[in-house]
Amino acid sequence: MSDVAIGVAWRQVRDRFRASGIDTPELDARLLAQKAFGLDSMALVRREREPAPADQLKTLDQFAQRRLVGEPISRIAGEQEFWGLNFALNDSTLVPRPETEQLVEEGIASLDGKRSPYVLDLGTGSGAIIVSILDALPKAKGFATDIAEEALAAARQNAERHGVAARLQLKAGPWWQAVPHTEMFDLIVANPPYIATPAIAELPAEVRVFDPRAALDGGWDGLEAYRAIAAQAARRLNPGGLVLLEIGYNQGETVSRMFGRAGFGRVEVRKDLAGLDRVVAASHS
Ligand code: GLN
Repeated sequence: MSDVAIGVAWRQVRDRFRASGIDTPELDARLLAQKAFGLDSMALVRREREPAPADQLKTLDQFAQRRLVGEPISRIAGEQEFWGLNFALNDSTLVPRPETEQLVEEGIASLDGKRSPYVLDLGTGSGAIIVSILDALPKAKGFATDIAEEALAAARQNAERHGVAARLQLKAGPWWQAVPHTEMFDLIVANPPYIATPAIAELPAEVRVFDPRAALDGGWDGLEAYRAIAAQAARRLNPGGLVLLEIGYNQGETVSRMFGRAGFGRVEVRKDLAGLDRVVAASHS
């Protein structure tokens, strides 16, 4: 044990954060202290007079130093809430963004009335999208791929954590190469890397430095992943099925034209809550 109380320890971190201009110093300090001391938010309050164990105090200090150089809380904690579920992260996974919940919501809605839908998630990362869909639809099955084995390990862990592992197959490989030729799907989702390589330098540091480059970099024009996905999507979709892709705010027109040319009779660009183009939806009719 140290002679520093838990409540004193996190307030010291808060003061350091405040002094260095971090936006939400108190919230960040509390969250990191919860993680370091293994306490939930209630216990952090209840036990604030207890002495902090020395090793946990050291962990908190290391967390604080990482935050002070700009690392996001979710990255330090190794987890992020998405669609009301907690997802484990690692170095090969993007931190799931709230905007991406739109893909989950529209995906689930599109499967309404289907008895045992089969869903493909290309480039699944932490598995946030497919695990959320399977969690919401107990009769659905899923197939998810990622080029990074390490990402699939996180997806597997998350599928187990949320009780959908028995309904989810995971396979390593780039785009369609990981998907057996015989498989057809009712819903195909992806949040692929879509930032144009030259634009990566302009992203905020917490994305540019701390999110995996492979999950962001969409090639010279940001569209490489969509070209790869478009190459087979139309023939892998069951009648009545839907392709839902997250896109960058300025890619609606290009990506929808690309999927129109790739054999889809109906292609739509959908906006997010901020009014920006966010999703391309493609179907056969
Ligand atoms: N939405 C991410 C961002 O913060 C990009 C994710 C992606 O490329 N799929 O810019």
